[in-house]
Amino acid sequence: MANYEEELLALFRTLHAHPELGFEEFETTKAVRQRLEQAGIELVETGLPTGVVCAIGHGEGRCIGLRADMDALPMSEEADLPYKSCVPGKMHACGHDFHTAAMLGAALLLKEREAELPGRALIVFQPAEELCEGARRVAETGVLDEPEWFFGIHSYPEFEAGTLGLRPGAVMASVDRFRVTLRGVGSHAASPHKGLDPIPVMAALIQSLQTIVSRSVNPFSPVLLSVTHAQAGTTWNIIPQEALIEGTVRTMDEQERAEVKERFYRQVEGVCAAWGAHAEIDWMDGSPAVINDPGLCALAESVAREMGFEVRQQEQTLGGEDFSEYLYRPVKRPGLFVRIGTGGGYAAHHPLFTVDPAALWPASQYIARLAEAAMKKQR
Ligand SMILES: [Zn+2]
Ligand SMILES: [Zn+2]
Repeated sequence: MANYEEELLALFRTLHAHPELGFEEFETTKAVRQRLEQAGIELVETGLPTGVVCAIGHGEGRCIGLRADMDALPMSEEADLPYKSCVPGKMHACGHDFHTAAMLGAALLLKEREAELPGRALIVFQPAEELCEGARRVAETGVLDEPEWFFGIHSYPEFEAGTLGLRPGAVMASVDRFRVTLRGVGSHAASPHKGLDPIPVMAALIQSLQTIVSRSVNPFSPVLLSVTHAQAGTTWNIIPQEALIEGTVRTMDEQERAEVKERFYRQVEGVCAAWGAHAEIDWMDGSPAVINDPGLCALAESVAREMGFEVRQQEQTLGGEDFSEYLYRPVKRPGLFVRIGTGGGYAAHHPLFTVDPAALWPASQYIARLAEAAMKKQR
């Protein structure tokens, strides 16, 4: 087995210094493609301008999917690193540079073992995770049909390098988004009876929406509804025509997700009917919850322990990850999202977020070993 550590660290530092936002990962894509081609790895064309998909192994045996994401965030880096972002207003604050480098290392290791592999790996370097769109776009190209199981990785600042976070069941939430425009009738502030003030309708609606989770969801279920943006009016003596609220719904279960959406519509319609106002609802279904398969979780744990990683329980979060799309598109299939301890002390999306480079090479080796173990796993 060759040691790619120095090469991967150099790639990680280069990617970190030159962050690219979702669907603009042109240089990142070029770097990954070139290295895969140089190693003689088969590229799978998606037709998308960014992102790379490749395949290693043989047609016989099980095909498993592996996914890393590539995009950065629109924010300025504050950490004082020698390889700090050179692009003002752009930063790898979610570790996707680390994921790209770690997955490339895994691809190189799997390629070395290609003749001995009992199956095949389809590896996705995905664009635009932060836009919650990349996974769906890759799935729509039709290249994801083959894998029986899908594995995703993510850096995790809560755990030090050398530690992996695993947990069976739901680990991240579905991410739905709503916008409600309430239409009333404008008038002078002194003549409310001549108009239909949308502001008290908005206030009543916000209060009412808060009762969906507290009064109609099992208190043991993690469900969240946040109204995060409310807007109405322009000044002190005009009753406005319109009011607007925006927010998000997070759940860990598809049935609850559907029930919350239904109650949401009912409450908006009911409150508006009571006031005689009119509402327009824009509901945007985002990615589903990330549900870790218990059997794959046990496999990942045994591989981790064999390799000397410390294994800890991954925390559940109502944050989202479009990795879940791979568990539903184009078919429902089992998968696992593994957290790789990368230390650093600052949460993802923080301007001081950093990744401990010591986690990189072990991560590549772990992904390659896990992929091979998954190809061999008995059903
Ligand atoms: Zn992120
Ligand atoms: Zn991320």
